[in-house]
Order: sequence, then C-alpha cells, then structure tokens
Amino acid sequence: MSDFRPEDLTDEQSEVLEKAMFLLISAKREAAEMLTRAEIAPLPDGPFRSPCEFCACSDYNGDGGDCQTRVFGPGGSGPDSTCGHAPSDHLET
Ligand SMILES: [Zn+2]
Ligand SMILES: [Zn+2]
Repeated sequence: MSDFRPEDLTDEQSEVLEKAMFLLISAKREAAEMLTRAEIAPLPDGPFRSPCEFCACSDYNGDGGDCQTRVFGPGGSGPDSTCGHAPSDHLET
C-alpha cells in the first residue's frame, strides 16, 4: 500500500472513490435509521455523522452524485442553493 493521495487519482479512480464513499455514507445512514427505529437514541456526536467540511450541510443527501442538501450561504444566498459537494467531501478525515 502506498500513501493515498487524492490528487494522483485518475478520473476513473476518482469515480470509484466517490461510489465507494457513497456506499459508506449509505451504510452509515441505514445503521443510524436502524438504531432510531429500535428506539436507541441517535448518536449526535457518534460515528454516524457525515459532516460536509465545506459548507453548512450536515449530511450527504444525494444519489451518488452531487449532494442535494439545500444550504444557505453566509450572505443568505438563494433558496435554490444546494451543497453540490461529492460524497467524499462529507466524510470526516
Ligand atoms: Zn452536502
Ligand atoms: Zn457541502
């Protein structure tokens, strides 16, 4: 295994990375829902958060492409703004 450097990835590798990150996020979300359904409290600061590092969005909301979570910028940007970040941007590093 060599050091992981995102900037060295080919387009194809980047695509695989985003798909893998999406699977990870989906699995986390499913696990969190499972706990909620069983009336085990959702863990507010636990391992189930997937905060976007780049905007106010607190969770990935998309189908594997860009995040569709609606966000409001610091200056109150338009109501149609979405996070637009890739799945991998929503994982803690
Ligand atoms: Zn987002
Ligand atoms: Zn974002």
